Amino acid sequence: MSFKLTLLPGDGIGPEVVGAAVKVMKHAAEKFGVTIETVERLIGGASYEEYKNPLTDETLQTCYDSDAVLLGAVGGYAWENLPHHLKPEAALLKLRKSLGLYANIRPAKVYDEFLESSSLKSEVLKGTDFVVFRELTGGIYFGQPRGIEADKGFNTMVYTTEEIERIARKAFEAAAHRGKKVTSIDKANVLEVSQFWRNVVERIAKDYPDIKLNHMYVDNAAMQIVRDPKQFDVVVTSNLFGDIISDIAGQITGSLGMLPSASLGDKYALYEPVHGSAPDIAGQNKANPIATILSVAMMFEYSLKMTKAATVIEEAVGRVLKDGYRTVDINTAGGKLVNTTDFAELVLQQFDEVCNEEALGVFTL
Ligand code: NAD
Repeated sequence: MSFKLTLLPGDGIGPEVVGAAVKVMKHAAEKFGVTIETVERLIGGASYEEYKNPLTDETLQTCYDSDAVLLGAVGGYAWENLPHHLKPEAALLKLRKSLGLYANIRPAKVYDEFLESSSLKSEVLKGTDFVVFRELTGGIYFGQPRGIEADKGFNTMVYTTEEIERIARKAFEAAAHRGKKVTSIDKANVLEVSQFWRNVVERIAKDYPDIKLNHMYVDNAAMQIVRDPKQFDVVVTSNLFGDIISDIAGQITGSLGMLPSASLGDKYALYEPVHGSAPDIAGQNKANPIATILSVAMMFEYSLKMTKAATVIEEAVGRVLKDGYRTVDINTAGGKLVNTTDFAELVLQQFDEVCNEEALGVFTL
């Protein structure tokens, strides 16, 4: 099997974490006998500097010609004052929209090693394992009209039946293989668009009689995630609410540097860490590569359907953490401090260790 992947490292720490994750990806591909052909392109501020355009048609075409995209991050101080359509972040929105990536999947799973360093009590957090399905190509980030006038600024939140149906179906399908529970988050007590969202989700739920559905207002959901995160299994929500909810989930389960994501459409897939370009630590080989390495694991799972390879990567990352190695952002309890490249090396070593144990029957995948 051959697979085409476009690499878009982007700005700030993007190239550092993508570099580390690609090493792990190539190693895993070789071990599991799959050829992954990669081609690298510029995006965001890096693309603006070269072409005065944060996402060129050529780069977009390369993505269309691939099976999936691995992205680092975009943005930085240098481009903050550009007009909206030239900002690095505009490239990301355009890329997601162009590839039809309507479902953004962000797991929130806590490693036991981080129970003590979380801002939550470990008994509240232990066992947390939920996944957020965020609608990614609609809602207030894209709705018209939008603008700034002399005495007002405005955006529009709009959702169509089709947009809600397809993300809801992905969430229910995921729940069927997990804890069989979907929580739909909205603001139906105030927003008509949320009442509409709720009606559509309830209609779709009838096709999944084994799955329990509950609704939660977004303000309550934000509170519930820090009060009792174990109550959640699959969360489905709109673009804006999902943006915020997934950052809260990130904070309680560790560092932003540990959260992977997958964005899926009907044809293409994009894998990227949840965090941004972290300009404050860029270029110092300090960045935590875990989120991007785990995004690669999600690529093996969702695009290549190679669950075994994904599990080995996740297990290898877990073992490096268990051995006490930490990048600076997660080194709150005095672990063994390592840099980005060293962390990736340690993951490779553990990857081989897991494979050996599996061959000997000591570790079962
Ligand atoms: P950020 O995620 O870049 O950084 C927030 C904080 O977390 C910083 O202190 C940073 O050092 C730290 N951090 C983030 N990822 C880390 C990692 N892997 N390892 C260690 N520490 C890490 O968010 P921000 O500071 O709000 O935004 C910076 C830039 O990134 C902005 O231009 C923003 O628009 C952009 N951004 C891009 C994306 C994306 O490309 N998907 C997402 C969010 C923000």
